[in-house]
Formats: sequence, C-alpha cells, structure tokens
Amino acid sequence: MSCIYLPMAALFISILVNILFFSKVNVKNIETKIYSYLLVLNLIHCLYNCIVIILIKQFNIVIPILHKIDILMIMYWVSGIFAYMVTLSLPIKSYRKLGFSLTIINIIISIIILSLPMTVVNEGEILNTIGPSTDSATIFVTCYVISCLILFFYVRFKQKDQPLKKFIPLFVLIGVLLLGLLSRNFFPNLIIEPFMISFVNLVMFHTIENPDIKMIEQLNMARDQADKANQAKTEFLSSMSHEIRTPLNAIVGFSNLLLENNDVPASAKEDVNDIVMASDNLLEIVNGILDISKIEANKMEIENQEYSFPKLANELITLTRGRIGEKPILFKTSIDETIPPVLFGDGKRVKQIIVNILTNAVKYTEKGWIELRISHVVKDDLCHLIISVEDTGIGIKEGNINKLFDKFERLDIEANTTIEGTGLGLAITKKLLDMMNGKIVVQSVVGKGSKFTVAIDQKIVKNPTFKEVEVVKPTEVVATDKTVLVVDDNKINLKVAQKLLEQYSLKTDLVASGDECIARIKEGKRYDLILMDIMMPKLNGVETLHELQKLPDFNIPVVALTADALTGMREKYLKEGFDEYLAKPINKEELNRIINIYLNKE
Ligand code: ADP
Repeated sequence: MSCIYLPMAALFISILVNILFFSKVNVKNIETKIYSYLLVLNLIHCLYNCIVIILIKQFNIVIPILHKIDILMIMYWVSGIFAYMVTLSLPIKSYRKLGFSLTIINIIISIIILSLPMTVVNEGEILNTIGPSTDSATIFVTCYVISCLILFFYVRFKQKDQPLKKFIPLFVLIGVLLLGLLSRNFFPNLIIEPFMISFVNLVMFHTIENPDIKMIEQLNMARDQADKANQAKTEFLSSMSHEIRTPLNAIVGFSNLLLENNDVPASAKEDVNDIVMASDNLLEIVNGILDISKIEANKMEIENQEYSFPKLANELITLTRGRIGEKPILFKTSIDETIPPVLFGDGKRVKQIIVNILTNAVKYTEKGWIELRISHVVKDDLCHLIISVEDTGIGIKEGNINKLFDKFERLDIEANTTIEGTGLGLAITKKLLDMMNGKIVVQSVVGKGSKFTVAIDQKIVKNPTFKEVEVVKPTEVVATDKTVLVVDDNKINLKVAQKLLEQYSLKTDLVASGDECIARIKEGKRYDLILMDIMMPKLNGVETLHELQKLPDFNIPVVALTADALTGMREKYLKEGFDEYLAKPINKEELNRIINIYLNKE
C-alpha cells in the first residue's frame, strides 16, 4: 500500500494551506477568487484519491470512470491555473466571459475524456491507465501549459511592469510535471498528481498578491490615530500660539509706548529697548513654530497679490540695519534698479525668505561685511529674481550643508552656543521656496563665510491696480473728533489698544463683550471704527458682527482684532464680513494703515 503515502501527504498540505488561506480575511479580487477555487478543488482531489486508493486496495475495484473523474479534476485545476495566468497577463474586461468560455471548454474536454475508452492496468502495486482517454487528457494538459507559457513570454516582452514573481507557480508546475514523467519510469507505483497540485498551491500561497484585510484595517486604524494625533498637535500649537500672542500683545504694545514716551529717562529706555527686542524674538519663534506646523498639516498657502518691490527692498535694508545694530559689520547692498516696481506673488513670503537668510547672516557673523544683492532676468511676463546674501561669518562645514534645511537642525552647536535660534528658519525657507517653485543654493567655507543664493519667479504687473498707502506719522493722520470702539474680553489688551489709539489723539470707548458692544450701538452711540476681538466668551467676535449687521442702518467699519494668526485667517475674516484684519501683537504699521483708510481727516 506504499502508493497511498504521497496522496496522504498531499491531503495534509492541502488541508494546511486551506486553513491558512481561509482563516484570513482576504480581499475579494479575481486572483484570490481563482486561488480559492484551486485550493478547494485540490482538497477534494486529494480526498478523492485517498478514498479511491483505499477502495482499490481493499475491494480490488477497478472501474475506469473513477480514474476518469480523477483525470477530470486535474484538468479543471490546470484550467484554473490557465485562468489565473490570463488575468495576470491580459487586460480582461469581463471575468464572467472568461469563466464562461473556460467552462464551455472544460465541458467539451469532459465529454471527450468521458466518452473515449480507457484501460486501467492494475498489476500488484502498480496502478496505471492507458488508452485514448488518457492520451487526450495529456494533450489537453500540455495545451493549457503551453498557452500559459505563451502568456508568460507575452508579459515578459510587452508588459515589463508586471512582476514576474507571480509566474513562479507556472514554472514550479512545469518542473513537477517533468518530475512526474520521470518518476513514472522509475517509481511506477507512486501516485504523484495530488502531491504535485498541493505543492504548486503551496508555492502560489506565497506568490499571490493577497493583502490581509485585517492587517490593512489595523494599518488604517493606526493611520487614523496618527492623523488625529497630528491634528491635535496642530490645534495645540495654534492655540498655544494664540495664548502666547495675547500677553505678548500687551508686552509689545506697552514697551513700544514707553519707548515713545518722553517722560521715560534715557537709561530706562535702553532696558525697554531690550524688552522690545526680546519680545520681537519671542514673536518670531512663535511664528516659526506656527509656520512649520502649518506646513506639516498642508495648511500653508501661498497668497499671491500685487506688491511693491522697492518697498520690500527698503524694508529688508532697514530691518537688517536694525539687526546689525552695534556689531562691527558693514552692510553692503546692490539692488538692480531696473527690477519692475510692481510684482505679482506672495510678497510677504518672499520677504520672509530673504529676512530669514539675512537674519542668519547677521547672527552668524561677528565682524566684516554682509552683502545683499538682488538682480533679475525678464522672460515674457515673468521676473526671475536672483537674491544673494553673502557674509564673512563662521561658515558651514561641507558635510553639514545638506542638513541645513532639516527642521530643528542646528549645526556645529559648540561654535554657536551663544547664538539664539530654533533651527526652524531654513526649514521654513526651503519649504516656502518649494511651494513657490523657487531654488536655494548654499556655498560656504568654514571660518571664511557663506553665500546663500535664492531664485524665485514673480509675475510682472504692467498696470497695477493697488494703491500704496503712505505711512504717515500717527499724530498727523486723523481728525481728533473721531471715536473708536474697542471690544475685547481681556482687560490688559483693552488698555493697550486704548493707549495706542490715544497716540493718534483718537477718542476711545472700551467694552469687554459682544453683548455690551451691541448694547452701545443700540443705544445710538456713534463710532467711526470698531476693533473687535474674536475669541470672547458667550458671543464671539464673528457672532457679534453678524448681530450688528442685522441692525438697521449699521454701517460702521469693523476690524477683526485677533491673536489667531494661522494663514488664511485674513481671508476668513474678510469673508465673514469684517472690513479689515489686524493681528495681535498689533503691528504699528498695520494699525497706521488701517487708521489711514478709515479715520483719515478727509
Ligand atoms: P537657527 O534658528 O538655528 O538659525 P536656521 O534653520 O535658520 O536655524 O539655520 C540652521 C543652522 O544653519 C544654524 O543653526 C546654523 O548652524 C547654520 N547657518 C545658517 N545660516 C548660516 C550662516 N549664514 N553662516 C553660518 N551658519 C549658518
């Protein structure tokens, strides 16, 4: 009874692979459907073989039909392999049609095999079938295998992107078929077919593209969790920046007021100046963290609009001179005067990029010079700006240059321990440049200095539509009889606003909530401008505005005053119906601009 061992082993493998495959939640694609068919057929075939062998051995029953059914099962299995190869190789539109055609072919083959004569040779241990039925089955199997090979070569030469790994079962099948033929000669008593099929199925289990749905679900869950955590981080950062900006508004506001106050002695003014610089620094850090979190949350937007290039250049120069201060550094500038005066692009971000690089040059240079060069090339309606900043500072090691743009990366910590920084500036600069299709190149020699060169394209505006608002000294700006209503739940910030507005000799009225603001308007009080905080308990700024707009004849300009400084906030508040947007800490220039628009003498 030696010939039952192989079918038993085949049955064992088959059961194992079936359990492995069907215990997973599989994707329902055509590959796994065909594979399920192959597995189930293989299991039935192994069982059938074991039963038939036992029947023959025990009762010596030799009926050709039993062998024909065995051969048919092998045929159906090979046709399944063929179907699998077709789906891998050809762009099949309708799998139903493929299944239907193969079923018809298999029915025809079954009729031929069943109707042709077969002789079963049963000589002791050796069980063999011969005759036209067996021969035709051999021919059909060969045809299927050759067709699979043709498909393989088609894929090999036509669709180079199809992974060849999936064809491994085909070659294993060819290999075991040849081995089977050989074993017929040397070990005629072995029944090898069920084992061959189980083995190919086992190999296929490893090559089939069958993602585990459970794992995908787990991965999806993990991704969702990570997304949520990231979202929470962004929210935390923006609310933290809001919280920091609110007290910072008071620090910046009051210290600026003290600087301009003639009663403050010169010695105290120096200290106040330090407070101003330190709070500017803190604001820059908060802005940097906010920027990087926006970039990571894909919330950073480039806001293109017309802007004045000479104004931008002047601001860069003034700012850098201020930053150099007392340092023994010569600041050289060479700015091409033929650069078109009005450009279209995100001027604020262009400024931020150049300021970052200039600030670094000042920070990392002790003495010598810093040079800012801006030149341009015009192509059609584009102005290709080339900005370079060169310094005679500490320089950057060659190996460190490619680390420059990683966030929180501060190089050569020993060399610059005394220099403040977060390592965010250049990471933000690079990301902003990527968003604007710009480029940055760094050349540097340690101990000699560095040169950062930036290239950005901006559109040229031939007929500008914007009007440059001239910044006039506050006291010259307004008529003294105008009144501003300030709405803010934070008492200190109310005081800051009041003091700032007093500088313009404006009258102010202060209220601490949206309700109070509405009450004042309902009472019939006349105001020329309302500065409205956004985050307030009960009625927030936006809700208050909407309530005000419902009042008959309400036409006072309302400015959103907020520490909410995420990008797009300006647009958001303008869309809500505000006339202007003013970020906290209040920037003097911005306040000037707004007062110029709404409270000008004329
Ligand atoms: P940081 O806030 O530390 O200045 P940046 O991202 O702006 O962060 O710069 C990253 C690092 O690159 C700095 O810590 C410094 O080591 C180096 N670096 C940037 N600019 C210069 C420069 N002009 N000269 C020398 N080193 C520089």
